[in-house]
Amino acid sequence: MRTILFLLVHLLMAVLLSPASAAPKPAQQLPEIGFAIIKTSRVAVMEGLLLPGGSFSKQIDSNFSAFLIKHRDEYFLFDTGMGRQIDQQYRADMPLWWRPFFKYEAPVLPAREQLDRAGIPPLRRVILSHSHWDHAGGILDFQEAKIGVATAEMDVIRHPTRGPGGSWASQIGRASIQWDLLKFQPQPYRGYAQSLDLFGDGTVVLVPMPGHTPGSIGMFLTVDSGQVYFFIGDVAWTVDAVKVGAPKFWAAAALVDGHAEQTQSSLEHLRSLMRQDPALVLLPAHDSAVQDRLGYFPLWIK
Ligand SMILES: [Zn+2]
Repeated sequence: MRTILFLLVHLLMAVLLSPASAAPKPAQQLPEIGFAIIKTSRVAVMEGLLLPGGSFSKQIDSNFSAFLIKHRDEYFLFDTGMGRQIDQQYRADMPLWWRPFFKYEAPVLPAREQLDRAGIPPLRRVILSHSHWDHAGGILDFQEAKIGVATAEMDVIRHPTRGPGGSWASQIGRASIQWDLLKFQPQPYRGYAQSLDLFGDGTVVLVPMPGHTPGSIGMFLTVDSGQVYFFIGDVAWTVDAVKVGAPKFWAAAALVDGHAEQTQSSLEHLRSLMRQDPALVLLPAHDSAVQDRLGYFPLWIK
């Protein structure tokens, strides 16, 4: 009896400690074309600020995310979220009276650090949906990269402003930044009059979406599975807001949207796109609900 018990215990140990169960999970295979969401920081905000009709007693998360795109051998970022120097930049360019309302919470995990840790090769380019502080906060961490922006955004970049709807001198004012002006072609795409097919294969297509800033851009990305994602920057803060057709709480919109009618028409365009193609997945830069559902770097969406 004792021997049987002894054998059983050993058998159990062998199963539990077998290489199959002890081995680390195999790394997820990299996509040919796919993306990963890099959450650099977040902040809890009143739901009513992000969602028209939302509650002002309930808090939800607003993310500050960068999006890492893999297109075959090239990796690039769409937006940067918060970078290594965000604390100094915030002190320099967020006036004291705005700080209680527009902030970010620790820990900040800059995209540069997350990429370095994962062994992602140096980036040759970063593209900005627009130049606001919570999107351009990391560009100084990528000095070797060209920073792609719409030509229409250069006017904002040449005349930096402070505060919550600002493009900050502390982030975009440095002469060493290699700006790369994106040249949109008169090539209609999904109802947009102009577009830029970045690799010439239809997988990454940029479109102008002026309003929130003059040079705001959106990016359509078709991943390995054939699923199309549309990165819309700050045209709306949440997908739910697009669905109800009102991008932002009015007071917030007045602060951060450069041009109200243009922003509204960019939003109407989004609504018609969603009606035409219900499978299209919209990705606002700050929408934590959508991003939580998809998962975060090092997880790849493909
Ligand atoms: Zn913005």
